[in-house]
Amino acid sequence: MTKKNEECYRCGGIHGSENMKLHGYTICTTCRSKLGLLTDKTIKRHLKSFEKAKAIDPNKLTYEEEIRRRVEYLEKDYISKRIKLFHVLERLDLMIDHD
Ligand SMILES: [Zn+2]
Repeated sequence: MTKKNEECYRCGGIHGSENMKLHGYTICTTCRSKLGLLTDKTIKRHLKSFEKAKAIDPNKLTYEEEIRRRVEYLEKDYISKRIKLFHVLERLDLMIDHD
């Protein structure tokens, strides 16, 4: 799980053995603590809340489906924002003299 000498994606810190891999990203313990990761207790509370809602209305998403939907939305939003920024860089490249 731990990879040494890889930079934390957030702060760029190289903390050696303190950096860890989290879902494909290298992160230091300080930045990990700032992510606001949910505790199992909170996740179970959300899970039960979604189960109750689905029992009343079967059309509602399960908690897992809702989280997967959010991840998909985030990825599309991330791509859209990158395209927008790359477009600006592309236009700037044409507007600015490079001699
Ligand atoms: Zn960090």
